[in-house]
Amino acid sequence: MKKLKRTRIRITGRVQGVGFRPLVYRYAVDHALSGFVENTPEGVFIEVEGETSRVNSFINRLKETPPPLSKIRNFETTDVAVRKIEKDFRILLSNNSGKKDVEISPDLAICPDCLNDIRSPGNRRFRYPFTNCTNCGPRFSIIKDRPYDRKFTSMGDFPMCKECLSEYGNPLNRRFHAQPNACPECGPSLHLINAGKKAKSTDLIQTTAGLIKKGKIAAVKGLGGFNILIDPFNKANLKRLRKSKNRPNKAFALMAKNTMVIKKYCLLSKKEEAELTSAAAPIVLLRKKNTELDHISPDNNYLGIILPYTPLHHLLMEELELLVFTSANKADEPISINDDGVKRLIEENIIDFALSSNRDIINRCDDSIVQYTGNLKQTIRRSRGFVPAPVVIEAPSPRGAILAFGADLKNCFSIRKKNEIYNSQHIGDMKDSRNYEYQRDQIKRFKKLLGLDVKIMISDAHPGYENYNMEYTRVFHHHAHMLSVIGEHNIKEERVPGIICDGTGYGNDGKLWGFEFLEINGNLKEFKRLCHLEYFPLPGGERALYEIDRIGISISRFLDDINCYKRYGKKRVDRISKLIDSGINSPLTSSLGRLFDGVSSILSLCDYSEYEARGAILLQKAAENAASINSPEYDVKLNHSADSIIIGYREMIRKVWNDREKGIPVEEIALKFHIWIVNAIVKVISLLKPEMLVLSGGCFQNSLLTGLIKDVLDEKKIRYYFNSNIPVNDAGISFGQAVFGE
Ligand code: ZN
Ligand code: ZN
Ligand code: FE
Repeated sequence: MKKLKRTRIRITGRVQGVGFRPLVYRYAVDHALSGFVENTPEGVFIEVEGETSRVNSFINRLKETPPPLSKIRNFETTDVAVRKIEKDFRILLSNNSGKKDVEISPDLAICPDCLNDIRSPGNRRFRYPFTNCTNCGPRFSIIKDRPYDRKFTSMGDFPMCKECLSEYGNPLNRRFHAQPNACPECGPSLHLINAGKKAKSTDLIQTTAGLIKKGKIAAVKGLGGFNILIDPFNKANLKRLRKSKNRPNKAFALMAKNTMVIKKYCLLSKKEEAELTSAAAPIVLLRKKNTELDHISPDNNYLGIILPYTPLHHLLMEELELLVFTSANKADEPISINDDGVKRLIEENIIDFALSSNRDIINRCDDSIVQYTGNLKQTIRRSRGFVPAPVVIEAPSPRGAILAFGADLKNCFSIRKKNEIYNSQHIGDMKDSRNYEYQRDQIKRFKKLLGLDVKIMISDAHPGYENYNMEYTRVFHHHAHMLSVIGEHNIKEERVPGIICDGTGYGNDGKLWGFEFLEINGNLKEFKRLCHLEYFPLPGGERALYEIDRIGISISRFLDDINCYKRYGKKRVDRISKLIDSGINSPLTSSLGRLFDGVSSILSLCDYSEYEARGAILLQKAAENAASINSPEYDVKLNHSADSIIIGYREMIRKVWNDREKGIPVEEIALKFHIWIVNAIVKVISLLKPEMLVLSGGCFQNSLLTGLIKDVLDEKKIRYYFNSNIPVNDAGISFGQAVFGE
C-alpha cells in the first residue's frame, strides 16, 4: 500500500467570496483526496488526506493556480496524523467564531460568464440585473459583519429559491457558495420612483433608457450608491444639472457603452484599457482627441470615463451609447444610497426620476478614479473596487491598532492592524457635517469588520484639531505625504529625501507649507526641511482658495514697475493689500498649488475657483495647449537661509507679467511656468545631490508636471518613487499617518 499523509493548510488574504472553496474541492477531487475545506474568520482552512505524492501535488497546484481574484498573504502547511475517517472531500459550512482576520473582497465588476447569462435569451437569468457568481458581483458594499456569509449581508433578506440553492450547494457550479447568488425567482428586483405610469412597465431598464433619451434626468442605483445619468449631448439638461449641483465648470464623468465608443473621443492606451476593463472598474482619466465633448470637461484636456460594471449598467447601455455619470448628491454631501436620498433629490428638482432596487447598500462607496502618466499609474480616488483590501507594509508592528484620521479635504481614514493598513473609501470634505457623520459611521463599521479596538489615534498636527478629547499622535501633513510613498514602496533607506508639490498643509513653523524638499530619517519619525518655496501671504486664508485673484495680487505686490491696478482694479488691489499689511488672516504659505492659482489669475485664466484647484487645472490645460516656446525661459533664483534653501518666486512672476505685457501667448507662459518648476527642482537637486527621491502631493495629479519631472529624473539617473495605488493627493494622508505608527 502507498504511503498516506494528512496535511492541514491555513490560507489568509483575500480568500473569501472569490471562489476559493469550490476550487479547492475540485482540486481535491482531481487528486482523489479526502478531507474538508472551510471558511473561518481567519481565512480558509483545509485538511487533505491521501497518497503523499497526491497531497503534495494538490498543494503545489493550489499555490500555483489559486482562484484568479484571490490574493494569498500566507500559505501555511502542517502535517498531522492520518485519520482515515473521511470517505470523500467536503465543504463545511462557515464557522463564525474566532478572530476576524480574513479579508473582505472589494466589489467586483460583472464577469464574462455572468454577462453571457444575462445576454442569453434561454438562460433563466436573461436580463436579470442582479446576476453574480463567485467571480463577480457586490461584496464590500453589501456586507454588515463577518465572516462573509449571506446572512451577514443585505442579501440575507432574500432566501434562495430551489434552483439557486442547488447551484449554491454544488461544488462544481460557478455559483457554489456565491453569497449574493440570486435569480429573478428569488432575488432583489427593480422599481421606479417618480416615473408615473411608467413605473408599471414590463422592462424598467428599457423604460429608464427611453426616459433618459427623452431628456429626463435619472438616478440609477449602482453598487456603492446612486449615479445621476443624462444624455451628454442634451445641453439643456447639462445646464440644469450644472446649475442644481452648483458646478458651472467642473468636469463630469461619463459612462461609455464600450471601448469603441471611448475611442471616438479619447486616446486610449493598452494600460488604460486594461484598467477600465479590470474587476475594479474605475473611472479612468483619458486625453481627449477632439473637442466634441469639451462641454463635459471645459477646464481640462481630459475626460473621466467608466465602462458598465454591473449587470444593470450593461443592460442599460444596450440602449445607449454614452451618458454623463456622476454621483447622486448635492454638491459635496455623501452620495445617495437609498430611496429616501433620491426622493430628496427629486423634491429639489436635481433629478426627475430614479431606478432603484430593494437590495440595500450597506457601505456607501463612490467610484474610484485612476490616471496614467506615461507608465505611471496614479490613483486619484481609491474607493469602489479597491476598498477594503489592505495595503501591507514592512515595519515593526505597533503596540495596538491605529486609527488615522487623514486630512480634511478628500478625507479618507485608515486603520492599521499590525502591518496591514485598511484605507477607507472616499469620505469627502470634512467641513460638511454629513461627511463628518459618514466618517464616524464608517470608522465604527471598519472596527467591527476588522474585529478590533483602536489603541492609538493619529491626526494632523494642525492646532485646529486640538478639541479632540483624546490623546492623539500628531503627524505633519507633508511628513504624512512622504510616508505614504515610503509605505507604499516599502522603502528601507536610512535617510529618505523627497519633494512635495502640494496645496497647503500645516508646517512645524506654524506656516502653510506646500512646495518642500524634506528628508525623513530611517525610523520614520523625524524629518528635516531642506528647501522650500519662498513664503507669500494668503490674503483671507480659506477665501483665497476660491477668490484666487487674491493670490494673483499677493504675489505681484512687490513689483513697482508693473501696474497691478490695470489688471485687478485699484479698489481690489488696495483692499487686498490692506488686508495683507494688517497681518489679519493672511497666513504665509509656500504652497505650490496656490502659486499655480496665482499665476492662473495673473494670466486671466481664472479669478474665481468654484472648486478646489480650478486655477491650477486651467493653467495645466493652457500649458498642454502651447504650440511652442519662442521666448526665454524663466530663471530660477535660489536664496539660502540659515538652514535651508529657498526658491524665490519673484523674478519668475516679474517675467510672467513682462511676457503678458509683450503679448506672448498665455499658453506659452503657462508652459514656461511648468518648466520653471522643473528647473527649480533640478537646481535644488544639483545642490542636495540625492541618490533617490520620493515624490508626493496633490500637484502631481497634474500629469504634464509629473511627466516633465519624471523625464529629468530619468535623465539624471536618480531613483525615484511616486504614489501609485495610494492617492497622491490628500486622500493618501491617512495612509501616511498610519505608516508613521505609534
Ligand atoms: Zn460572474
Ligand atoms: Zn433563485
Ligand atoms: Fe496635501
